[in-house]
Amino acid sequence: MSKNKNDLTTSWGTPVGDNQNSITAGSRGPTLIQDVHLLEKLAHFNRERVPERVVHAKGAGAHGYFEVTNDLTKYTKANFLSGVGKRTPLFIRFSTVAGELGSADSVRDPRGFAVKFYTDEGNYDLVGNNTPVFFIRDAIKFPDFIHTQKRDPKTHLKNPTAVWDFWSLSPESLHQVSILMSDRGIPATYRHMHGFGSHTFKWTNADGDGVWIKYHFKTEQGIKNLAPDVAERLAGENPDYHTEDLFNAIENGDYPAWKLYVQIMPLEDANTYRFDPFDVTKVWSQKDYPLIEVGRMVLNKNPENYFAEVEQATFSPGTLVPGIDVSPDKMLQGRLFAYHDAHRYRVGANHQALPINRPKVEVNNYQRDGAMRFDNNGQGSVYYEPNSFSGPTEVSQHKQAAYPVSGIAESVSYDHNDHYTQAGDLYRLLSEGERERLVTTVVNAMKPVAKEEIKLRQIQHFYKADPEYGERVAVGLALSVPQKA
Ligand code: NDP
Repeated sequence: MSKNKNDLTTSWGTPVGDNQNSITAGSRGPTLIQDVHLLEKLAHFNRERVPERVVHAKGAGAHGYFEVTNDLTKYTKANFLSGVGKRTPLFIRFSTVAGELGSADSVRDPRGFAVKFYTDEGNYDLVGNNTPVFFIRDAIKFPDFIHTQKRDPKTHLKNPTAVWDFWSLSPESLHQVSILMSDRGIPATYRHMHGFGSHTFKWTNADGDGVWIKYHFKTEQGIKNLAPDVAERLAGENPDYHTEDLFNAIENGDYPAWKLYVQIMPLEDANTYRFDPFDVTKVWSQKDYPLIEVGRMVLNKNPENYFAEVEQATFSPGTLVPGIDVSPDKMLQGRLFAYHDAHRYRVGANHQALPINRPKVEVNNYQRDGAMRFDNNGQGSVYYEPNSFSGPTEVSQHKQAAYPVSGIAESVSYDHNDHYTQAGDLYRLLSEGERERLVTTVVNAMKPVAKEEIKLRQIQHFYKADPEYGERVAVGLALSVPQKA
């Protein structure tokens, strides 16, 4: 008898005889190991989860497109940016950072903003956040920093003492801490926030001339934030509030959009700018390098399947296309390794071959084998290079762009340590109401810190950013700004 389309099958494709009752010895059992359908069903169920991401575990995704609105081919040869009107399909994943896969959306946390452009020259990932800067500027500090954001190994609770201890001993975090504690630390939805590439990248044009750039996605929905009490209530009543909002907006045809801009810095300015422009704890002032429009991103399609598309989506800032390269930014350099490495561990060595990650163009290389290789594995084609069998060869005009380096190879910090001016500039651009809420948020977050010396150390940082900022936090904590600040 031939199979019907609607027949339930085992994973090896044969019809299942009974999906309600396991095979037992008599009606009471015990259950017999010969019920191979039962064994397979239970065993597969045990393996339904891949490890959640250590950071950015909770997220939501959407499909959409990017359309060029301003031709910048004089700065980059990246094909997907060539010519007004050119459209490129994309997938985006928004996320919180510190919480687990089931954690609440409306927490105070940076938001991940990771875009995969499926370009005609392979995939380009822009893996950013909703903040223009980061807490640290050297990847060697990342595991320590994230340990303070996750759960204490003894209590399995969040630990504010660890959080502020690390920040107060890492003053480069002050700028990002101030953004996080400001109103924008809890976006109203994923639609009502900006996105930033944060790092410096390099664009190179067809003549080989380069510029340094920074990316800014500006929300067309406008910035909207959640008041802390509303956010706390939502965390209990609807922990998936942002996920639901994004899904419903797209389902209802209310497609969210962002304008993409770049700041462009001539290469030589990097040696003379008033601070190191590769330091990811700093922004480039828009008065020095104004925003230049590039295009528009529209999200217009929900995923059909959360696990296949959102959970298995893998992004890396090293997923680059010709015309876009990296900078020496030490945080970026670490991420170039860490992202794909996380996905090899989490999803597997062939994660880039999964439908959500696979480029729309043909992949032509000498990688073979590995766990879950589910295509034809190169069939009988040549599997090494160089070879005499017309295998794929390199395209020398697409070498990574070169840049000059100098110095002594050693463990060394960036050679400037002004962690205060830009955090102060941020404080000074806030309205009185925004300042008051910022200080209240900082004070409430620092109250549970177990050691006074940590609070005093952090107050000095706020004071150095702006004396009023430090004094107000000190008053809120019933302390005084230390004399030496
Ligand atoms: P500008 O006045 O030219 O730019 C100020 C920037 O701050 C704009 O991007 C603006 O973006 C953003 N901004 C406005 N209100 C807030 C707020 N309440 N919270 C966070 N960001 C806000 O000055 P500079 O470029 O010289 O930067 C001054 C300070 O602004 C920086 O020290 C930094 O803290 C902050 N900032 C700077 C950015 C940059 O790329 N230069 C980006 C974001 C913040 P918008 O109006 O779209 O919200």
